[in-house]
Amino acid sequence: MTNMRLTDQQTGYVSEIFCSIQGEGVYVGERQVFLRTAGCATTCRWCDTVWSKERTDVCVVHGRETRELTNPVTAVEALDETLTLVRAGAPVKTVSITGGEPLEQPAFVADIARRLKDHGLRVYLETNGLEVGGLGSMGSHVDVVAMDIKLPSATGKDHWDVHRDFLGALPGVEVFVKLVVEPITPFDEIEKAVRLIAGAGRDIPLVLQPESSAYLEGTRGARGRSALLEMIERAQRFGLEHVSDVRVIPQCHRLLNVR
Ligand code: SF4
Repeated sequence: MTNMRLTDQQTGYVSEIFCSIQGEGVYVGERQVFLRTAGCATTCRWCDTVWSKERTDVCVVHGRETRELTNPVTAVEALDETLTLVRAGAPVKTVSITGGEPLEQPAFVADIARRLKDHGLRVYLETNGLEVGGLGSMGSHVDVVAMDIKLPSATGKDHWDVHRDFLGALPGVEVFVKLVVEPITPFDEIEKAVRLIAGAGRDIPLVLQPESSAYLEGTRGARGRSALLEMIERAQRFGLEHVSDVRVIPQCHRLLNVR
């Protein structure tokens, strides 16, 4: 990542700001404030934040009272609301910038991240790993990148080269990769994802995330559930042959039914 000078306040589209537990990945369970950007051009079959895919007119702030801001919001407006939630109760140390896809608004997100760092906060960026160009704006303003690998079977598109470039553009930043696994995920796609990660670094953690509706809502029935468990075990065993840290972590916020 290279530093970019950001002098002017940026504006952007935010879907919601709230405080909750981190429900995914290697920091699962950590209390964080979430700033969810609005807008995502990707189409994941199992998208669990469909309301954030469009750039809506309103940003909802879930504090002691629910408030609405008019989009696009300024970086300072978004920062002020975020800091209010950070300081409510026991202080929160980490802000997760999530989406939608944050890097579809790179200048805005970089501006907010820089301001959060100025306030001593840790910045955690959740991304679909497809907006390589957006990374250049982020400078040293991000502490952790939680990057998805989007499989062709989930999006209908082949993103392998873009994901490879994205991972290659992250030297010096803590990163882990998340892979959503369904009962019907082609195993050769899992193999390809694992090899791609191993090519970027054997020490990059891989989180296998069972697709939630398959076990929480039973969308694929009892057989789907057991097929998912078999797939997950097979994927973890294969992954551990190539990278050093492969964990199975379900979406804990979905288990707890919290935002
Ligand atoms: S990248 Fe994220 S927000 Fe976009 S469709 Fe996929 S899951 Fe939904």
